[in-house]
Amino acid sequence: MQEDLQRILVSRSEIATRIESLGQQITRDLEADGLGSDEITLVPILTGSIIFVSDLIRCLPLRMQIHVMSVTSYPGTSTTSRGAKLDPTGTQVPGDLSGRHVLVMDDILDSGNTLRLVKQELEARGPASVRTCVMLRKQRPEAMAFDVDYIAFDIPDEFVVGYGLDYDDYYRNLPDIAVLKPDVIQQGGAD
Ligand code: 5GP
Ligand code: MG
Repeated sequence: MQEDLQRILVSRSEIATRIESLGQQITRDLEADGLGSDEITLVPILTGSIIFVSDLIRCLPLRMQIHVMSVTSYPGTSTTSRGAKLDPTGTQVPGDLSGRHVLVMDDILDSGNTLRLVKQELEARGPASVRTCVMLRKQRPEAMAFDVDYIAFDIPDEFVVGYGLDYDDYYRNLPDIAVLKPDVIQQGGAD
């Protein structure tokens, strides 16, 4: 797996430090807003956010419910978005979110299609508020234009893997965030 990497973009120790401060910031904001600790619903977007979520929630000492949502946008070996689609079979969010303060968590903000779709879906369920949080934001105009509440890292506009992010469903277990060698992507038959 390591031999497929061109370079590490964000190391595991940088991630660990940043997750802790982000956790403190989110906790402060939720408390300062008087949201209490009883009405928070966390919505992780599958599958890429799983490691980010598992690390960050342990830095949020708040009472919360967790309901996953499944959205596909990069099927198989493609490295560009094919438009976001909700997968109802992988989605456990209740139809009624009235009174709940929702925090959506995704791995990466790229075209913004995923978060736009998810926000729309969630707002239709009548929550008190919807906030968004991403591990990474790509420095491209579409991503920068999307109004996201929390970002762990801004990165260059490159295809990355690791820390939950995949290429053809591989590399999610890399502890660092990395760029693949170009020949790995070509061999995989990116389309
Ligand atoms: P968006 O809908 O904002 O274009 O993209 C969001 C989704 O596309 C992410 O949740 C992620 O699944 C996928 N994605 C976007 N950029 C990358 C990337 O650089 N690497 C990987 N592995 N997935 C990406
Ligand atoms: Mg995703």
